[in-house]
Amino acid sequence: MKIYNSLSRKIERFTPLNPPQINIYTCGPTVYYYAHIGNWRTYVTSDLLVRTLKYLGYETNYVMNLTDVGHLTGDNLGDADTGEDRLEKAAKREAKSAWDIAKFYGGKFLSEFSDLNLIKPNKYPKATNHISEQIALIEKLQKNGLTYETSDGVYFDTKEYERATGKKYGELSDLDKIKEGARVEKNVEKKNPRDFALWKFSKKGEGRQMEWESPWGVGFPGWHIECSAMSMKYLGETLDIHIGGEDLRSTHHPNEIAQSEGATGKPFVKYWVHGAFLKVDGGRMGKSLGNAYSLGDIKKRGIDPLALKLFYYSAYYRDSLNFTWEALEGSQNALNNLYERVRELKASLGDELSSEKLDKIDNFRSEFRGYLEDDLDMPKVMAVVWSTLKSNLPSRDKLDLLYDFDDVLGLNLRGVEEAKIPQDLIKLAKKREEYRQKGDFAMADKIREKIENQGFIIKDGESGAKLSRRSAFGKKSNE
Ligand code: AMP
Ligand code: ZN
Repeated sequence: MKIYNSLSRKIERFTPLNPPQINIYTCGPTVYYYAHIGNWRTYVTSDLLVRTLKYLGYETNYVMNLTDVGHLTGDNLGDADTGEDRLEKAAKREAKSAWDIAKFYGGKFLSEFSDLNLIKPNKYPKATNHISEQIALIEKLQKNGLTYETSDGVYFDTKEYERATGKKYGELSDLDKIKEGARVEKNVEKKNPRDFALWKFSKKGEGRQMEWESPWGVGFPGWHIECSAMSMKYLGETLDIHIGGEDLRSTHHPNEIAQSEGATGKPFVKYWVHGAFLKVDGGRMGKSLGNAYSLGDIKKRGIDPLALKLFYYSAYYRDSLNFTWEALEGSQNALNNLYERVRELKASLGDELSSEKLDKIDNFRSEFRGYLEDDLDMPKVMAVVWSTLKSNLPSRDKLDLLYDFDDVLGLNLRGVEEAKIPQDLIKLAKKREEYRQKGDFAMADKIREKIENQGFIIKDGESGAKLSRRSAFGKKSNE
């Protein structure tokens, strides 16, 4: 398999540290709100990589953290050590406790994980359950002379790190100002502009809900330290792969490297993988812009989350992808089409003899695998899926191939049912049409909802309304 490594800035041949086992870590969400479709693009890329590695015969140990403390709002402005804690801020907004916020949005994230039929990580540790591990790591850094205290926290000394280890800080970053050390200074007590917080003190009179005792004073961990502490706890001091969105490449990941290598003296990660951002209508996605859509927003429009997944597959993960509702509807149509074809194949399975076209089967399989192994080239992978369907292979062979491919695609093709549209739904659709004719759209909409609740969608076309089974929504196999 070939994969682009952000560290070397090259596509490299992937060689695991301890085959067949592969240790892989994804920076998980900050659970202060619903994950948006940009976040999901990154998690679908992680899922795809894990599924691909499994498909290629490796065993994966996959860990994704849940950030439930310490991610400050200042990172929007390029300084993650300032601003309010996102969880505490959300608690104020929703008049709940920070713990309730974490519980609610963390739980929501995991249930939506199933909606997208993503493979469950072997572990998804929370930052707040690993405070002692984070403190122990900071103590190790302190012992190695890489920390210092200011009035608001304990900081990592990037200059001392470079001096003591002979390594350069910020090698991974694509921001020259980080590599060269010229970050805009906000905190005058910091020794170097690039230094970052390992532990922040609770401010006097701040009344934080999430705070802990530490050898340096009551407070909470800096955002970066949790990933170093938890990934090393569960995956060892050197991991095979670490993944995240491209924004993390600029400071969060360089900081993870510095902390981890500053503590252990060993390389932290062999392959750094970063996914490009999802844009909306050609621009930035943001809550304040009202375009940070959640899976709930997608579902409300009658779109299956798996159609969103298919939409992501339309682009190479390192290219930015532009979201529009039209494009997503196009993916829903493609998914319906794919499911319809699978249904037809299932229905047409007869007493066929096994295929004599073994070469052809092997060709499709090796093309599919070849494009996956080429740094996850999903547009080409999907083209193989469609050409398999169009081929003259017997239904049995096509279906076998599709099921095999679905181990990677995770589109729940095995869950597609053969059943025809039930009679009572056809009757309901007719009734709805009558209401529409009469102009009673409220009743017509009510019936549409009834139909949709039973797993079908109804589309009004020129030749009248058409019923079709919605993709196997809500019946995920969830491995
Ligand atoms: P956060 O919850 O902000 O820590 O982000 C969780 C993950 O989503 C990180 O890996 C981010 O890099 C990623 N992410 C954030 N915004 C986008 C976006 N617009 N497109 C793709 N990934 C994103
Ligand atoms: Zn991280």
